[in-house]
Amino acid sequence: MNGPVVITQPKTAFQVDRLTIKYDDGQGAVYAPLEDFSIKIREGEVTCLLGPSGCGKTTLLKALGGFVIGESTGGVLFDGQFQQGPTPEIVMIFQENNLFPWLNVRSNVAFGLKFMPREKVRPEALDEMLEAVGLQEAAKRYPHQLSGGMRQRTVIARALITDPRVLLLDEPFSALDVSLRRRMQQLLHDLWEKTGMTMVMVTHSIEEALYVGHRVLVLGGRPAGVVIDADTRDPALKDRYSDAYLQLQRRIESVIY
Ligand code: ADP
Ligand code: MG
Repeated sequence: MNGPVVITQPKTAFQVDRLTIKYDDGQGAVYAPLEDFSIKIREGEVTCLLGPSGCGKTTLLKALGGFVIGESTGGVLFDGQFQQGPTPEIVMIFQENNLFPWLNVRSNVAFGLKFMPREKVRPEALDEMLEAVGLQEAAKRYPHQLSGGMRQRTVIARALITDPRVLLLDEPFSALDVSLRRRMQQLLHDLWEKTGMTMVMVTHSIEEALYVGHRVLVLGGRPAGVVIDADTRDPALKDRYSDAYLQLQRRIESVIY
């Protein structure tokens, strides 16, 4: 039987609408990395943001998270509602991973649960999360007793324990060596497969963006605009040696460097 053809459009998670963010440059002048900037981020996708250093990537990510910074006009709609401030549905992992040095891994991860209503906390959630990121064995260790990868996994576990709908990541793996980086990228990829969570990740690595992302946005110019908006789901783009990969890499590099 043929029913009506239903074409489902992916939902919009974030709509950035003519956003201008101005900073005081400390010398009496005003600097606006984002001016009249508009973009839509789709729900359930992994969107990667690339762009030259200082172009406004972190500023944009913070704006998505509802961390109002500087002076702003325009706004960000999340789920069709104007963002008024941070919400537990959106968690952000910053570049520098700040674990509490006086808490062990288990307590660091459990920290996020404090902000959840009691009835929403499943008692087994903590152990499940430690298991999922492979930290069961290290649960009693303190941050200074962890490798870089373990620390970053703790940070991710702490962010995920509250079961957020959106994960915002600001160059989360830049301090890790190549093999750990790959493992963490795999972890993110698996997490997405399991949850279909909306993620926006800023990265300096084109390889990382193409591997983890469904869509790559390259920002450039002053004030920043979207210079490249590419769908990166094509399996050829997951192969670092394919022509399609190299072509896109060349295009992106011409903007970034
Ligand atoms: P990116 O993450 O792309 O490197 P940022 O969003 O961090 O760029 O910064 C964009 C620009 O805004 C930079 O020139 C930076 O110096 C400036 N900037 C960022 N945060 C502040 C702030 N809190 N106060 C003043 N200027 C800032
Ligand atoms: Mg930044």
